Amino acid sequence: MVKFACAIVCMRRLLFFSSFIGLFSCAEKSTPPETVYFAGEIVNPTSDYVVLYKNDAVVDSAKLDENNRFSFTLDNVEEGLHHFKHTPQLQYVFLEKGDSLLIRLNASPAYFDESLVFSGDNDVVNNFMIEMFLTHEDEEHVVYSYFKLPPDDFSRKMDSLQSQKLEELELLLNNEEISENGYALATASVNYTSFLYKEKYPFYHKKKTGEDTFDQLVTTDFYNYRKELNLNDRRLSYFKPYYDFMKHHFGNLSYMACIKNCGQEDFYSAEGQLHLNKHKMVMIDSLVTEEHLRDNLLRNVAMDFLLKVHMTNDECHRFVEDFESLSNNDAHVEEIKHLFKGIKNLQPNKALPHLVLEDAQGNTTTLRDISRNGNTVFYFWTADQKRHFKNVSKQVKKLEKLHPEHRFVGINLNTTKPEWSALLTETNFDLTNQYRGENFETVQNTLIVDHLNKCVVTKDTLIVNAFGNLYASFEPTKKP
Ligand SMILES: [Zn+2]
Repeated sequence: MVKFACAIVCMRRLLFFSSFIGLFSCAEKSTPPETVYFAGEIVNPTSDYVVLYKNDAVVDSAKLDENNRFSFTLDNVEEGLHHFKHTPQLQYVFLEKGDSLLIRLNASPAYFDESLVFSGDNDVVNNFMIEMFLTHEDEEHVVYSYFKLPPDDFSRKMDSLQSQKLEELELLLNNEEISENGYALATASVNYTSFLYKEKYPFYHKKKTGEDTFDQLVTTDFYNYRKELNLNDRRLSYFKPYYDFMKHHFGNLSYMACIKNCGQEDFYSAEGQLHLNKHKMVMIDSLVTEEHLRDNLLRNVAMDFLLKVHMTNDECHRFVEDFESLSNNDAHVEEIKHLFKGIKNLQPNKALPHLVLEDAQGNTTTLRDISRNGNTVFYFWTADQKRHFKNVSKQVKKLEKLHPEHRFVGINLNTTKPEWSALLTETNFDLTNQYRGENFETVQNTLIVDHLNKCVVTKDTLIVNAFGNLYASFEPTKKP
């Protein structure tokens, strides 16, 4: 089934390719040998610009012309993986000196990734990467169904998916020349997805079947790939399949080490989480030397932990200090300190933070004013997440019936005012309970909205629970 999906994608790419190569072919000739030319056409654009990044830094931006075409001519390109953003979407592009590479894509949300096609230098690597991205998306639910299989069977399934894709790559490369870095990237897009699933396996297998396979796996060849891992591959630091693998690899390693060496059994309480995450930070610190990768992984551990336990005791304080001493990235340190301060401000019985919001009639008010009388539950939604918007509307209607003593107040994130007004008119939300902030990042940071099912429960402007969940917090056995 996966092969079949690949074949369709390939065919679609070929059709695009033949109709489109003629458009730009004249542009390739007159540039010096090291200059990179990256250009393309965007059907149904969603913004006026295309922005090119190397890691987390902007390389350049280009405005679309009247025919929705853009071009970059770059004299000093650092070779390797880049990404480009056409707001709100982004995708990877692999560039090497002297490359002349064209893209075509349809920016409508449903087509962005599926329609993206590269032609020119390094098109094989780039088309292969996007094809793998789509294949892995299609495959995800199948792999999740494999998690219940015994280790050997699971391993065989993963190995076979992996080798099918690598064979496909070899076929594509039959008549193509490709650089070592290009090949490394193409194979990484296959391998690290497979390795990631293996790192996840014991946790998901246990969740699905109750069976603990942790010890068993390390004595077999299940984790064979670990022998040849490169934990410091600078080329892949910002490549999601590699980075996701690294996160789970350290999660898995530290979990095992905590059981074996620290005698840790509890991983669910705040104390257990604290121990595990401290251990994970030390492990990353000792094994990862590549600067960006190391800092990003450390930031991820700190962020994850603080958002999960959202406590502010002395131990948590020391955890933040540990993070500060390990991280070499000042921006990350500031961000984590800021987050910790935000969490401190959102503890039970504290006054709600100051936040200006606007109601459906365009009047300005504040969070405190809205929650002045009685019990209020603030929940969040955005027009970008249509399915969430539908679910949250349903859940709020249900909760309003079950908990008439609470007022449920929606705060919109990241939707333009006209779109917000239109959506409010379309749905039968009670307009007196709908608000939006002019700057959604201010709302998000002040209330630490790290996921969309979050809710903030208050009583008379005081916080009851600032880290509630619109579903779990209102289950019959639990109090909000
Ligand atoms: Zn430990």
